[in-house]
Amino acid sequence: MKLQQLRADMARRGLDGFLVTGAENRYYMSGFTGSSGLLLITHDDALLITDFRYKEQAARQAEGYRVVVYEGQIFDAVGNVVRELGLGRLGFEAERTTYASFEGLSRALDGVAELVPTRGAVEGLRMVKSPEELEIMAEACRITDAAFDHILGFVRPGVTEKEIATELKVFMLKHDMTPSFDFIVASGARGSMPHGVASDKVVEKGDFVTLDFGGFYKRYSSDITRTVVVGKPTDEQRRIYDLVLRAQLAGVAAARAGKRGSEVDAVAREIINQAGHKEHFGHGLGHAIGLEVHENPRFSPTDSTVIQPGMVLSVEPGVYIPGWGGVRIEDLVVITDGDARVMYSSTKELIEL
Ligand code: ZN
Ligand code: ZN
Repeated sequence: MKLQQLRADMARRGLDGFLVTGAENRYYMSGFTGSSGLLLITHDDALLITDFRYKEQAARQAEGYRVVVYEGQIFDAVGNVVRELGLGRLGFEAERTTYASFEGLSRALDGVAELVPTRGAVEGLRMVKSPEELEIMAEACRITDAAFDHILGFVRPGVTEKEIATELKVFMLKHDMTPSFDFIVASGARGSMPHGVASDKVVEKGDFVTLDFGGFYKRYSSDITRTVVVGKPTDEQRRIYDLVLRAQLAGVAAARAGKRGSEVDAVAREIINQAGHKEHFGHGLGHAIGLEVHENPRFSPTDSTVIQPGMVLSVEPGVYIPGWGGVRIEDLVVITDGDARVMYSSTKELIEL
C-alpha cells in the first residue's frame, strides 16, 4: 500500500527510483529499525541497503524488501545497484540528506543517473495515520495522561522545575516511553517563555506552572501541555487561564476535515486577539505529530493544507506576558469525519495544587 502510493508519486515526478535516507521515513516505509542504511525504491523493486551489523535484523523486519549488504562506502553500493538496474532519474530527500551525503552520492552516480531533489514524498504519506498507528498513539496518550496525574502529586512549593521534569521522565521510562523532547517546566514569570525548559528555579506559592512534555511509545510521540496553579489563582490568573481555555476549546471544535490549517488557527487566534492579547500569542496553534514530534501539516496562519480524517495534530494556544508569566494548554486531536477526537482525558479545568 505505502509502496504503491510512493510509486504513484514517483511516476508523477518522473522518477525511476527513489532513495529514502531519513530515519523516520526509512522506518515508516520498511519497518527497519536499524540506525543506518537506506532504501532504494523503484517501480518494480524495493531494496534495503545496509551494512553487516544489520544483515539479520533487516531481513526479519523489512518485509518485501531485498536486503543488500555492502562493504566499504554505502554510496558506491548505491552506484552499483543503480547501474545494474539501469535507473535514469533518481529522487532523493532534499530535506533529509546532508551535504556530505549528497557529495558522496553525486560522485558515485556521476555519469550513471541524475539526482533529483524532492520534498515531502514520504512525509505526505505519513500525514494520515492508519488505524494501527492511531492505536499506538492512543496508548502513548493514555500513558501521558497517567504521567500528568502522577506529577500533580509532586508539584508543590520548594521543588525545582528540573526535579519536576526528572520525575516526569522517570515515570515515562517506567512505562515503556522515552522522552521525545526537552520537557518544558516553566513556573511563575518564566511562564512567559513558550519554550522555557526546566531550570533550577524553585516553585513558589501562587505560581502558574506550565508543563509541556511527551514521549515516544513504539516510536510514536505524545505531546501535552497543562498549566496548573500552586495555591489559589489571582483574578488576573483566572482571567488569562479562561481566555486560553476558551481559545483551545474553539480550536478543537474548528479542527474539522475539509478546513485549511490556517482557518483552524484563525478561529483560536481571533479569540485571543479580541481579548487584547494579540502580541502575547506569537506561535502557531498546532502541529501534526507521529514518528516525529513536529510534522506537517500545521495549524498556522501560513499553512493552507486541507485537513483530512486520520491526521493527528496538536491544538495549543498560549498567552505569554513578559514579566508576569503565561498559560498554554495543549491537546492532541484525531481528525475524523465529524468532531475532532481529543486523545487525552486529563482535565483542562484549572487545577489548584
Ligand atoms: Zn508540547
Ligand atoms: Zn506541541
